Amino acid sequence: MDLSVVIPVYNEEANLPLMYNRLNAVMTDMGITNYEYIFVNDGSVDASLSWLLEHAEKDEHVKYINFSRNFGHQIAVYAGADKSKGKAVVFIDGDLQDPPELIKELYTKFNTGYDVVYAKRRERKGESKFKLLTAKWFYKIIARISSVEIPLNTGDFRIISNRVVHYLRQMPEQEKFLRGQISWIGFKQSFVEYDRDERNAGETGYTFKKMFSFAMDGITSFSTFPLKVATAAGFVVSFIALVVIIYALYSYYFLERTVTGWTSLIISVLFLGGVQLLTIGVIGEYIGRINNNVKNRPVYIIQDTNIKE
Ligand code: UDP
Ligand code: MG
Repeated sequence: MDLSVVIPVYNEEANLPLMYNRLNAVMTDMGITNYEYIFVNDGSVDASLSWLLEHAEKDEHVKYINFSRNFGHQIAVYAGADKSKGKAVVFIDGDLQDPPELIKELYTKFNTGYDVVYAKRRERKGESKFKLLTAKWFYKIIARISSVEIPLNTGDFRIISNRVVHYLRQMPEQEKFLRGQISWIGFKQSFVEYDRDERNAGETGYTFKKMFSFAMDGITSFSTFPLKVATAAGFVVSFIALVVIIYALYSYYFLERTVTGWTSLIISVLFLGGVQLLTIGVIGEYIGRINNNVKNRPVYIIQDTNIKE
């Protein structure tokens, strides 16, 4: 198998036909015949699955994985990679925001001796101001606090070698943050630039909640900085508290002036309580993920598939 194309699908019934046609045109153009499309149906509630079943019957290149429920975009992509057989594996969104035609360029560059060629966004059309801004801040923050370098302005649209897939399989974490994991794996990586299109039809499957937990997964998987902030905050607050305690004792014994101030009391109580809750929360984020991982559950559950082991 020369090329596997992994396409996560969550309510993409309106995009699948065009996606498929454009992919076919690209394969013809590239002159590759030994390829597979792995569509991962991530608990769609529309007609995506019946489209997949129908086309899997007609076209042997169409493979599908049907999840037992919605597991999320990152896990869908991971499952596709996990089941892929290609020497090269492409990750591409199913809503045509990532132009399939770029696969040719990715593949050409890949064949000049890279293990990873990611697609870097020159422009991002049809995204809300809110998404652009939060994404920008997120990548700035993670670049500062994490030791792996996650390239800016990239999503998961990329081509990777089967040995990178091999190492992805060996990373058993439940919270997948593929762009970070692939940077972490290393090897020779490069990029090509492209303009990201608007979503062709339908609406985004990334709710605010999903985006937030994706960001938290990225940060907790690749940085312990928030834990260090908790420690630092603990030191600073303890130091301030010590100064205040010394002052209180001094004024009690030497100035013989008992503190009547309710204000200072309530401020320090609230402040301490706030810092404690915050740091407990940070620790909780990590412990929650440790807990998730020690349970050792399967990362995803397949209801049915036409992929043979
Ligand atoms: N997706 C998925 N599971 C989800 C959400 C999204 O498999 O829970 C798929 C979706 O079908 C698309 C890709 O992931 O192919 C990117 O999602 P989307 O376009 O909704 O996100 P956005 O581009 O708005 O960030
Ligand atoms: Mg999209």
